[in-house]
Formats: sequence, C-alpha cells, structure tokens
Amino acid sequence: LLLDPQNPGLSQPQRAELQTLADNIEYMFGIVGIPVTEIAIAAQAVGIKYVGMRNEQAACYAASAVGYLTGRPGVCLVVSGPGFLHALGGIANATINCWPLIVIGGSSDRNQETMGAFQEFPQVEAGRLYNKLSVRPSSLEVIPAVIEKAVRTSMYGRPGSCYIDIPGDFVNLQVNKSSVKYVECCLPPPISMAEHSAVSKAASVIALSKQPLLIVGKGAAYSHAENNIRKLVELCGLPFLPTPMAKGVVPDNHPNCVAAARSMALQHADVIILLGARLNWILHFGLPPRYRQDVKVIQIDICAEELGNNVMPAATLLGDINAVTQQLLEEFSKRSWKYSLNSEWWKKLRGKIKNNEERSKELALQKSLPMNYYTVFHHIRELIPKDCILVSEGANTMDIGRTMLPNFYPRQRLDAGTFGTMGVGLGFAIAAAMVARDRTPGRRVICIEGDSAFGFSGMELETICRYNLPILIIVVNNNGIYTGLDANSWEEMLKFGDPATCVPPVSLLPNAHYEKIMSAFGGKGYFVKTPEELQNALKASVSDKQTPSLINVMIDPQSERKKQEKKSWIFV
Ligand code: ADP
Ligand code: MG
Repeated sequence: LLLDPQNPGLSQPQRAELQTLADNIEYMFGIVGIPVTEIAIAAQAVGIKYVGMRNEQAACYAASAVGYLTGRPGVCLVVSGPGFLHALGGIANATINCWPLIVIGGSSDRNQETMGAFQEFPQVEAGRLYNKLSVRPSSLEVIPAVIEKAVRTSMYGRPGSCYIDIPGDFVNLQVNKSSVKYVECCLPPPISMAEHSAVSKAASVIALSKQPLLIVGKGAAYSHAENNIRKLVELCGLPFLPTPMAKGVVPDNHPNCVAAARSMALQHADVIILLGARLNWILHFGLPPRYRQDVKVIQIDICAEELGNNVMPAATLLGDINAVTQQLLEEFSKRSWKYSLNSEWWKKLRGKIKNNEERSKELALQKSLPMNYYTVFHHIRELIPKDCILVSEGANTMDIGRTMLPNFYPRQRLDAGTFGTMGVGLGFAIAAAMVARDRTPGRRVICIEGDSAFGFSGMELETICRYNLPILIIVVNNNGIYTGLDANSWEEMLKFGDPATCVPPVSLLPNAHYEKIMSAFGGKGYFVKTPEELQNALKASVSDKQTPSLINVMIDPQSERKKQEKKSWIFV
C-alpha cells in the first residue's frame, strides 16, 4: 500500500500520522529499502521534502544540521539493522552537539523477532544510550502521539535526538479512524528565565571584574540570541570569544572580538561569562593551566545538569540564553556600568591580537609552491561571499580555516563539533543548501574539507548533483591525514614492498583527483596547484550560482600550522 493521501486505500490514521509529521517537519533525509520505502513516499506526498542520500551516516548528519539551522528537527529515515547502525553515528553526534533530531527506523516484523529475522537488531535498546527518547509505538493508533512526543522531546529543554522504531508489519496494517489518538503538533519550546537574584549576583560579579571575558557558545547561536549578545557586548564593553560554531553570533570583525588572542584571553580572565558553551575539551575544562585557579565563572545554560560541571560557578543562570541576556541587559541598563576600553586588559588583548594576525599574514603571503594552508585560506577569504554558510572539517583544514575565515552572521558555520566527527561535511552542506534554498535563496554553501575528511562521505557528491544543489566544495589536499607524502616520496616508499607494510598510516594517494568525481556526476571540477589557478577556480565557481563544483587544491603535504604554536589535533 503506497501511502499517498490521494490513495482511496489510505486509512485515516495513516493520513493523521502523515499530517502530524508534516506540520512539524519540513525535511527528511534517508535511504529507503524494506520496510521504509513507503514512509518516504508518503512523506513526499504530504509535502515533506525527501532527500535520498548514499549513506545513513551522512543522512543523519544532514537531518541534525536542519535541527540546528531551523530550530525544528529534521528526520532521518533508515532501514533496519545495518541502516539503523550507520545512523547511530549521526544520532550520537546530534545529541552530543545538543541538536534536535528525529530518526525513524524500520525494524523486522514483530512476529519474527528473536527468530533471526532479516536485519534483526535490538534497535530500541541500542538507541537508548544516545537518544533522549528511544521508543517503538505499541500500536498504529498511538503513532501520532508518539511522533508528537518525540518532536517535542527533541526540542524542549536541552535539544537532542529521538528515535522511533517502526516494525515492518506496521506498514501494511490498518486501523479504525475512531480508535486513533490524534495529537496536534507541539508548540515551540517554552521560554524560561533566570531567577532575579541570580541575575543581580551575576551582574555584581561582572561589575567587580578586572579582566572579564564573555564566551559565546553554539547554544547561544541556537537560541537566536545574537541581537541581545551584541547589545550586551557593546553596552558593557566586554571582550568576547566565540567557540567554533558560535562564530558570527557577533560578527568576527567586531572590535570586541578577541578570537585572535584566544589562549591569552582564557588564561588571564578573572571573570568568564559562559553563554551556552560547556566547559569540556573545547574549552579545556575551565581548569588551570589554561585558566586562572581563581577564575569566577558565570554560567548560563538551559540545562540545569550542566551547571557546575568541572568548575564551581560563581553564579548560575538557568534559562534560555535569549531571555537571560535580555535580563542581563535590563540589569546593566539600571547599573550603567561599562568596562573601560582603556584598561590594561584591553591593551594586552589588543597587542596580542595584532601580533597573532601579523604572523598569519606572513604565512599567507608566502609565494613558495606548493602552497601552505594560510595562502589557500587567504585567497578563499578574499573571494567567497560574506554571507555564505561555511561548512568545515578536517584536522588542520578545520583548525586553520577557523582562524583565517571570518563569519559575519549567526548559524553560518558548521563543523566537526563537540564530538569531533569527521565525515559530517557533505551531509551538513546538503542540509544547509536545502534550508538556504527555501529560506534565503541565493545564499551559497561553501564546504571546505581536508582530503581525508572528504573521503568519509565523498559519494554524497552524487546526491548534491542529483538535487542540483549549487554547493562549492573545496578539498584542501595534502595527500593524507594531518600530513602526507609527495608523489616522489610515495614512489620511494613503494620500493620497500607492499604499501600496507611500508606506507605511513597517515598517507593517502598523492595527487588524487577528487574533482573528477564531481565532474563524473555533471558538476564542475577544478584541479589547482598555484594561487592563480585557485583564484580563477574560485571566481568561476562563486559566480556560477547553478552548478555544484569542487576545487581540489594541492598544498604542501608537509604544511602545518604556525610553528610557535603547540601541535595538537585541534585548538591551540
Ligand atoms: P560549544 O561547542 O559552542 O562550546 P556546547 O555545545 O558545548 O557549545 O554547549 C552548548 C550549550 O548550550 C549546552 O550546554 C546546551 O544545554 C545549551 N543550550 C542549548 N540551547 C540553549 C538555549 N536556548 N538557551 C540556553 N542554553 C542552551
Ligand atoms: Mg589531509
């Protein structure tokens, strides 16, 4: 039975279920097969946009990015067993990033369970660790109610993933209209504010600080608090630092942005206002030696269980960031306190910023070939539109790209995130392009990938071309993971015998022509080795707003980040 609303065979509950989904959900990503093909067809029939992907992981990354970008969950639709398992990576990534997501998994028929059914797997149980809700509706009648609960749970409180299991035999069942518990779609999350006393305590701590620092996290981006945060920064004269995906909440070129003095700002701040960011590895746990022993943290988060993690806070403001920053603005307007722009702290920060920017500039202007990362990012920065959505992953590519490529608007940077997941890029880019097409037509999506990161989901280029999404992918190709070998050294290595025994594990094939995969599917591919070739390819692909393109940029396989900095996988 194909669940087309026009189909006279469609039962009322099926129609109701589809309607519930359609009210809440705009986008579904997945791979069809037994037993979920009909669900995808039905979703399209009620106006949900269905994007068929090439691997469930990428589908799940895409659906989760929709949740972050729109505030309402996208759906990932997968088949039983292996399909579900592939999606688990995306489920975990979404929940760890605190992004709303709905995953619908087909599963084996109920009367074959424990018998060794086709693709049988304990999906509800396996889903429990990574989902806020992992559930199989007990009957067809309750499906709409379960869907409503899943959508609501994914968005309310700290957002995260919810899993709904649909046994294969459900797809062909019928029920009476009268027995269906139909539920209207849920309202947007209620908005909570911080306690008054906590707000005034926080303001007092801030007003007494000598070296304050505001840290903006992706929770702040998610809560659409950009206007309030910008006002707060300006009203109080506070230096601020965005975490990677919070770049653009306040534009990176704002005079109060101290991202270029990140380490110093963290290390010497005496009061930190933490807006929707966790004190996890990204922020070095809030502990010495990266922070002062006596740093006073003012923590603002929607999740009560987060408050006090790793550091005892000086004040905790439980609530929605947009609402709480409004409360802080009102409190500071009353106090008319402003941190002095002539303070020693500001002088120190500005000195450090100048110094660091000069070092990057030097590397960017190097003329030697092959190019280094800084030169590549310098040209990209010059030629891409200011309002593009940037997707970025890879080790050095993401780290250096983060410092070299500014963001000017909120929620326009997507990367490996809290889970450090490589392989998210193409799925994120597809989601961003779908959302941009509907909401901000003409806005470009530019996906900057390391060659290794690209490999995790490279076949999604076919998806990009199939849906004609004008994404520009730039593969920063150093022939490997972290570093690689040039073609000559590769040949030398092979003389020692079997590549599996003598080629460094970080190596990938030198000069791999990834751009040809794009041209194979009808997009445009460019292979570039020099700054001039890079500039030309960038100009051509940025001005062509219709065609997907991939620029494969060969760089020095031994190119690394700035010498003076400590080498680590991410964030120095
Ligand atoms: P980052 O990666 O930028 O450091 P994290 O993902 O670690 O950010 O932290 C984001 C935090 O934001 C989470 O602790 C989450 O609970 C919180 N959060 C999410 N949405 C909101 C919201 N609307 N208001 C307040 N806090 C939020
Ligand atoms: Mg690489």
